[in-house]
Amino acid sequence: MSTGLRYKSKLATPGEPGDVDKQYVGFATLPNQVHRKSVKKGFDFTLMVAGESGLGKSTLVHSLFLTDLYKERKLLSAEERISQTVEILKHTVDIEEKGVKLKLTIVDTPGFGDAVNNSECWKPVTDYVDQQFEQYFRDESGLNRKNIQDNRVHCCLYFISLSGTGRLRPVDVGFMKALHEKVNIVPLIAKADCLVPGEIRKLKERIREEIDKFGIHVYQFPECDSDEDEDFKQQDRELKESAPFAVIGSNTVVEAKGQRVRGRLYPWGIVEVENQAHCDFVKLRNMLIRTHMHDLKDVTCDVHYEKLPRAVHPADDQVKLTQDSRMESPIPILPLPTPDAETEKLIRMKDEEVGGEQGRSHGGWAGRGEGPGWVVEPGWWAGSGGGARLGAGQAPPSARSHRPLPLLPRPQLRRMQEMLQKMKLQMQDQ
Ligand code: GDP
Repeated sequence: MSTGLRYKSKLATPGEPGDVDKQYVGFATLPNQVHRKSVKKGFDFTLMVAGESGLGKSTLVHSLFLTDLYKERKLLSAEERISQTVEILKHTVDIEEKGVKLKLTIVDTPGFGDAVNNSECWKPVTDYVDQQFEQYFRDESGLNRKNIQDNRVHCCLYFISLSGTGRLRPVDVGFMKALHEKVNIVPLIAKADCLVPGEIRKLKERIREEIDKFGIHVYQFPECDSDEDEDFKQQDRELKESAPFAVIGSNTVVEAKGQRVRGRLYPWGIVEVENQAHCDFVKLRNMLIRTHMHDLKDVTCDVHYEKLPRAVHPADDQVKLTQDSRMESPIPILPLPTPDAETEKLIRMKDEEVGGEQGRSHGGWAGRGEGPGWVVEPGWWAGSGGGARLGAGQAPPSARSHRPLPLLPRPQLRRMQEMLQKMKLQMQDQ
């Protein structure tokens, strides 16, 4: 039986008509408040596009957002392209639709995959992604945390070239493997109008096999809740089955069956970008903008960002608070209080509780305090000679199970690590 209290309005008198209305406190409007605040603040999204020149990246971006972000693009000749090094170009545009503002940033990678020797050509891209994480980390640890500009890359559309074999090329594997732990990769088959449906089906199968074979973790769509309606579940199934999406882009509007549609006009007919029988463009657009934009941002923040700063930020290079380093430190460190037996018992119980929950929520991977991307040593907080280690272990490729739950109180840990880093630097200067 519920023992919860119901607060009534001060004016409510039992038995009065409208009594039920007066039991209405008003927190049912919370979603509206959140909605209003979010709309006022606006949204941001950073999308990276990668793949060799001429695969249709800029055309697809134009078709997706109906905005020409490439007005000032200089087209290079084949010769210039071969000698060009990989560049990172950022285009930002503010779009508004029905009063909702979106600050869209497209990160382009001209020159990627165009050279004769493409080994390591993804390095400038990985460096860029790391820099955005570092910048965010610095901003988050700084004073003006309220107005942080989030430039982290939330999604990368990777254009797979239609090579005759249907196999992934070394540059595709290299790029995706270098970035899959840092960014949500969505592989695409571009210019799908160059293949017949049977060829697309086979190509998709082969790409899925290759992705598995090379252990590449592309973006996994979240599991659909069991209480969703059948239509939604069906859409979700279709979305998952369609990956990798085969898309067509076009900057022109043509007339088909008396209607003006975005498409490509051929002597034998018209391919329509938004016709689901012709390609997966609508599925990709719905996924990116209408259904999964938030999830892409959440995964960037909760999975990729959680994993990465520890690997790239010098302040975070697995600093261990050991007995020795404390003794060597010229700066006196006050001993942290040692918990008494009763407190220790309570902490142990809490640890076990958390460990058990982690095991359950991650399909029971690990024992207490262990997951694929992290190891937490008991007693890390108490200065008892333990350390907080966050290893760079690989997450299993399964759907959502590779999202680690944040185990440690991140802000405190970061502040502690920053403090230690400052102390380290001071010691080096002396
Ligand atoms: P980018 O260098 O990857 O940005 O490629 P572009 O978007 O500039 O496209 C290069 C050429 O491919 C242009 O002539 C486009 O018209 C053409 N193109 C773009 N998308 C498609 C498509 O889906 N199908 C076909 N057949 N051609 C396309």
